[in-house]
Amino acid sequence: MALPMTYPWGDSLPYNSTAERYKERYGGRMQKISLSGDFTCPNRDGRVGTGGCTFCSNDSFVPFYAIGKDIDRQIDEGLLFLKERYPRTAHFLGYFQAYTNTYGNVEEIKKLYLHVLSRPEIDGLVIGTRPDCIDDELLDFFAQLNEKHFISIEYGVESTDDDTLRRVNRGHDYATSVDAICRTHERGIHTAAHFIWGLEDTLEKMPQQVNEINKLPLDSVKFHQLQIIRSTVMEKKYLSGQKDFYVFEKPQQYADFIIEVIERLRPTMPIERFISETPPRYRIAPQWGLDLRVPQMRENIIRQMKDEKRWQGRIFLLNSHR
Ligand code: SF4
Repeated sequence: MALPMTYPWGDSLPYNSTAERYKERYGGRMQKISLSGDFTCPNRDGRVGTGGCTFCSNDSFVPFYAIGKDIDRQIDEGLLFLKERYPRTAHFLGYFQAYTNTYGNVEEIKKLYLHVLSRPEIDGLVIGTRPDCIDDELLDFFAQLNEKHFISIEYGVESTDDDTLRRVNRGHDYATSVDAICRTHERGIHTAAHFIWGLEDTLEKMPQQVNEINKLPLDSVKFHQLQIIRSTVMEKKYLSGQKDFYVFEKPQQYADFIIEVIERLRPTMPIERFISETPPRYRIAPQWGLDLRVPQMRENIIRQMKDEKRWQGRIFLLNSHR
């Protein structure tokens, strides 16, 4: 049997995996415990907008053990659940994903995060937020925490295209994301960003978007396919046939698409995720998460990349040598 090929990042996966880089750096699996800090969102409470992003339903992000419980109980129940599920986990991180986790009273925000980090089982924080909701005071606070703990700020960028951001009622432009990412990276804080593929009505803008992503000083990137969630503006548009976005209705369509994205991405950009699955009770489309689950789909994409001798950065490197 042929030996597995080793890629530029030093292992046999055809993409540069954030989880593998974490293991090398921190000596084991890093597991996030999803927590809810009772935050809201400026795109819902009127500061930026009221309707929220057209694709958003935060209910689908909050795990069952976090609903209606104080933060310590969320941590206790999250640990219980995750230790059983992932017994080989070396480190646990408090993960604040739903809503905008740097939006609110600054002193209360600091108190919450200091409290979570005071729990001996918690090694760090991953904080999801909007790029227009971070200021220098909070970034300096996170930089201080970062001296002793793993701190990652994860920005919802969603698209590099301002027309798309306007259409999905995002309430900020791409330049705001670039600015927040650069200010976070400058302070040595682990900086991550999230993008959704399918917010555009065609896929023609994809190469330009990947070129923009390649310029960002990111430590990790997360991609996922657009999913149409119940009770969102997009649900109404999808059901009434007024689609101004793109749904990958077949898993192979998305596999072919995301492999091309990965090949255009610079090889030094670790990927945390390139596919995701919202629970079927929240999702109306696409349907393929029902029968073909994400871990299987991820394996299929990796196998396809290996079979076709494709890997992260292949097209990026070809283009940069022209
Ligand atoms: S995606 Fe984020 S910014 Fe948009 S409405 Fe939902 S919580 Fe607010």
